[in-house]
Amino acid sequence: MLPKTMADGLNAQVRHEMESAYIYLAMAAYCEAKDELGFAQWLRVQAKEELEHAMRFYDFVHDRGGRVVLQAIAQPPVEFGSMVELFEQVLQHEVKISSLIHHLYELAVQEKDYASLPFLQGFIVEQVEEEKTAADVLAQIKRAGQDMAAVIQLNKALGERV
Ligand code: MG
Repeated sequence: MLPKTMADGLNAQVRHEMESAYIYLAMAAYCEAKDELGFAQWLRVQAKEELEHAMRFYDFVHDRGGRVVLQAIAQPPVEFGSMVELFEQVLQHEVKISSLIHHLYELAVQEKDYASLPFLQGFIVEQVEEEKTAADVLAQIKRAGQDMAAVIQLNKALGERV
């Protein structure tokens, strides 16, 4: 049986993952408006992955006999600045998500909700990958700098993400 405090925390995480999807989709729209189509494609795929994360939390609450309660998601920003600034925000956001999942893990330990631990551990491991991927893209953009050929090449490479 899922403790109520855990159900609340997991439901909040459904919202955070949905908000992540919404933020990345807003970033994709921003890139599309600026004709940065490769970056936009990368962010669209990222948004889709966040929806999958949300559904994993959703299914877990349900599978554990909890009630899924959806919460309001915040309106994302419209402007994100330069591509460096945008990917700095992606990285910051993933760091925030990692810390939210760590808090959920602490809550599960406190509540002796052992069945949540391996589930949350999967996300803790996944967040290491998420932070690394965002940091890698940010480093590549910084390296490309003002070199137009390198920027075009990077945009193309990121656009191949499916
Ligand atoms: Mg996520």
